[in-house]
Amino acid sequence: MGKQAKAVVCRELNQPIRDETVEVESPKRDEVMVKMGACGVCHSDLSATNGTIPMPPPLVLGHEAAGTIAEVGEGVTDLGVGDPVLISWVPMCGKCRYCAMGRPALCDMGARAVATLPDGTSRLKDADGNPLNHFAGVSVMAEYATVHKDNVIVDQVGVEADKAALVGCAVMTGVGAALNTAHVEAGSSCVVFGSGGIGLNVIQGCALAGAEKIIAVDMEDKKLEFAQQFGATHIVNPGTDGDAVAKTHELTSGGADYAFECIGLASTIEQSYNAIRKGGTAVVVGVSRPTEQVTLGAFLMPFQEKVLTGSMYGSAQPRVDFPRLLSLYKANRLKLDELVTHTYSIDEAPQAFEDLEKGVNARGVIVF
Ligand SMILES: [Zn+2]
Ligand SMILES: [Zn+2]
Repeated sequence: MGKQAKAVVCRELNQPIRDETVEVESPKRDEVMVKMGACGVCHSDLSATNGTIPMPPPLVLGHEAAGTIAEVGEGVTDLGVGDPVLISWVPMCGKCRYCAMGRPALCDMGARAVATLPDGTSRLKDADGNPLNHFAGVSVMAEYATVHKDNVIVDQVGVEADKAALVGCAVMTGVGAALNTAHVEAGSSCVVFGSGGIGLNVIQGCALAGAEKIIAVDMEDKKLEFAQQFGATHIVNPGTDGDAVAKTHELTSGGADYAFECIGLASTIEQSYNAIRKGGTAVVVGVSRPTEQVTLGAFLMPFQEKVLTGSMYGSAQPRVDFPRLLSLYKANRLKLDELVTHTYSIDEAPQAFEDLEKGVNARGVIVF
């Protein structure tokens, strides 16, 4: 049986999102239906509504959520109704080249499931019976969602949905960029461009790894306050403090060991590369518009041996990393409570998006 569910829909680019009642179809083979407990409002959801991330509307948003299994499809044997689960917006097929080499964040099945489920079809219809696309292959900003079983990780630790939800995107992406992608070392120096939901989690990932200096760069003082709460040892607002690259070189005696770009702009990617020392690592976490082009000086490249890399979903191995992150939270080593600065009902979703644009929250979360 399908379910009627309230959902947050992007109908047209650059128009406000709206709440609609949609039909969520029952799971097919290897799929499950999840009753959502909570869904974070991530910058990527906003980016899909303004074309920064190209996603074809009409689209049900949401990719950072936790809930309980409501129904299982044929062939699903390791999940049962009532199981508490987290959503991983990258499915891990376990069979493709990248899964086989231990890099499921780059899974080929995940790369195919962009605006549909992995089989290329939708489980969503609007009130007129027209199909709706799935954001990030999941669409979990809704009371119910049908997703592939490989997008679901059981929470064996027992964390409330509004906190657990955030592990599925912001925390995994940010903490993972520091721990999995960059392998930040104890005693090192880090600079983090952008103190939104992802940036804050990169900062707490660097802190978890024992970084000595963590420099947070943001144009908004409010966000820099959050950054300090999450472990930043120094803050730089380029609007009032001047050039962030020069500041970083000054604070780190010639360049940071690691830089993280958590905004998605060519200019801050260039700054990240220029802010690291010789042999340092710059990690691009932010998602830019497809038209952005980065310009870097070529001459010094061989002399400096810098590493510039992307980080997809914090180079996650969700089946290993999600339980670890939940356990770290239970052990009071990972901040999740502090991330959730405001909760909304689904009817308040337009307000949640407005607040995201204004940057008032560390993270806003829709609770069902
Ligand atoms: Zn996200
Ligand atoms: Zn795969």
